[in-house]
Amino acid sequence: MVIFAHPDDAEIGSGGVVARWVAAGGEVTYVLCTDGGAGTADRSLTPAELADKRAAEQRAAADFMGVKNLVMLGYPDGGLEDTVEFRGDVVRAIRAYRPHTVFAHDPYRIRSFQHRDHRMAGIVTTDAVYPFARDHLHFPRQITAEGLAPHKVRELWYWGPDEANIIVDVTDSIDQQIAALVRHQSQVPGLNVAPGQTIGERVKRAAAEAAKGYGFEYGAAFRRLVARR
Ligand SMILES: [Zn+2]
Repeated sequence: MVIFAHPDDAEIGSGGVVARWVAAGGEVTYVLCTDGGAGTADRSLTPAELADKRAAEQRAAADFMGVKNLVMLGYPDGGLEDTVEFRGDVVRAIRAYRPHTVFAHDPYRIRSFQHRDHRMAGIVTTDAVYPFARDHLHFPRQITAEGLAPHKVRELWYWGPDEANIIVDVTDSIDQQIAALVRHQSQVPGLNVAPGQTIGERVKRAAAEAAKGYGFEYGAAFRRLVARR
């Protein structure tokens, strides 16, 4: 399960690994927290028009990646807060789709700029994974009234960490990651691509940097937490 703030964050953060795991038979669920209605420099679009466009792009990218389930929580872009309501929505998705591993924004990154929504999505996901989804006395109505069961997530993988502790070889899947990323057509101009460079080149440059010294061409770096048995 990939839990992310804005349309395109999932492909940027975990796309190479997700493509690899889908190819190996894994079932993947995306949980998109906001509607992406504020992330543009294009003043001709209303937030509602932008949100519709971004939802369609996210659906296309998820289909292309072979993602089985796409949950859209619909919070306003720039409006994520660490609230009981938001945490309950993330817990509900975890209890409904029961992932072994959850991918999320690293909320503890301090070495570079990070969108507030990314920090909020990361912290709420961290708490939802443990202990809120696991323990039946948290959000008990999901269990008594909605028919869900508590669920223990085994692993939590943060993308964008200051210090990675796992590097995944994504040499065979990086082209699919990039192809999915460009499905977010309204976002591509805003993805901080240097003049003369394509988004694919930018992604590959960072992935080559992550792979340095590991004996493969492209890597994806994460900070991985494993739950005790
Ligand atoms: Zn984002």
